[in-house]
Amino acid sequence: MTITDGLLRDLAGYTSDRAPVTSCYLDVDGRRYIRAQDVEPHLDDLLRRGRRRMAASNGHDKAATASVEADLHRISDFVRGGIDRSTTRGLAMFSCSADGFWQVVELAVSVPNVIVVNATPHIRVLESVVDQYLRFAVLLVDRQRARILLFEQGLLVDKQEHFDQLPRHDDDGGQMRHDAVAGHADAAAAHHLRRAAQAAFAAFQEQSFDHLILGTPDAIARDVERELHPYLRDRIAARLSIPVAARDGEIAQAALEVEAGVERAREAALVERLRQAVGAGTGAAVGLADVLTALVARRVETLLVSEGYEAPGWRCRACGYVGVRGRACPLCAADMHQVDDVVEEAVEEALNQSCRLAMCRANPDLDVLGRIGAILRF
Ligand SMILES: [Zn+2]
Repeated sequence: MTITDGLLRDLAGYTSDRAPVTSCYLDVDGRRYIRAQDVEPHLDDLLRRGRRRMAASNGHDKAATASVEADLHRISDFVRGGIDRSTTRGLAMFSCSADGFWQVVELAVSVPNVIVVNATPHIRVLESVVDQYLRFAVLLVDRQRARILLFEQGLLVDKQEHFDQLPRHDDDGGQMRHDAVAGHADAAAAHHLRRAAQAAFAAFQEQSFDHLILGTPDAIARDVERELHPYLRDRIAARLSIPVAARDGEIAQAALEVEAGVERAREAALVERLRQAVGAGTGAAVGLADVLTALVARRVETLLVSEGYEAPGWRCRACGYVGVRGRACPLCAADMHQVDDVVEEAVEEALNQSCRLAMCRANPDLDVLGRIGAILRF
């Protein structure tokens, strides 16, 4: 399934008076884990971490502890019950047994293994999937076939196909006849390319996509691009040599790799902007404490976080303040709550404030800056 804004909002808004919510993300990617049981050691490790976290955090009553224990059982049963790994590469599970709350999100893309027990669902990984996987289309064209495939969050959501038969070439008419047929075939192929480009533009108008990946034989690549609407030419993210007859799975795989590269480049550009602002001494905050201060002041335009970065901190339930030091809230003097991962709180706050968010994978430049940074509005 794809992650909608509504789903994210519902999860972000969920909370229970009775018990915390257990959030568990599990990578079940069949390319990494060939057999279903290969996933189980990772599941067991997550469940152990969940129990340890629960044991380490005091302040939970017996009922809350029992609820989390039941969550872990439910997660375990669900995964061991069997996942259709032909379509699912990542699982997100949210449970609050005391309240009967249970939600599974099956994703076509892989996710990092994460378990969090907190007052609200941990949705950061879902957000990073939305952030990372844009809507994109693949247009495959040869001289008589055209296919358009639309992907959202790595999932094939729509496809169409067009076929324009080329005139048959019979070898019985001598050279002049041969040239005439070849001329007809070229004209028919040109007509076909135009129709393919028009179909791609119609798909764009109807469904809108961020990127276009083009797969054509080299001989006609320039002709295809010439026929494309300028909007589509501007959205070409890559040119690949995928045959029109390729299987959907092969196309999805090639397209996902392109998208990952596009995303890494986007992140690198944002980190570079951050670095320059830091160098200029204006317009940026780096390191957890300064970024949280900027967030509280609502000055953040773009929040950049190294994937996997976690740090303990404090959050004020009264006014929303987030910081690295407790316990009294510096804004409203209320007693704050200690949180396992204040980075998660910062991401949620940034989303509430409609900031742009970049969860950066393997970006050493951001790591050097403190693993978290913000490009500021003012
Ligand atoms: Zn406060």
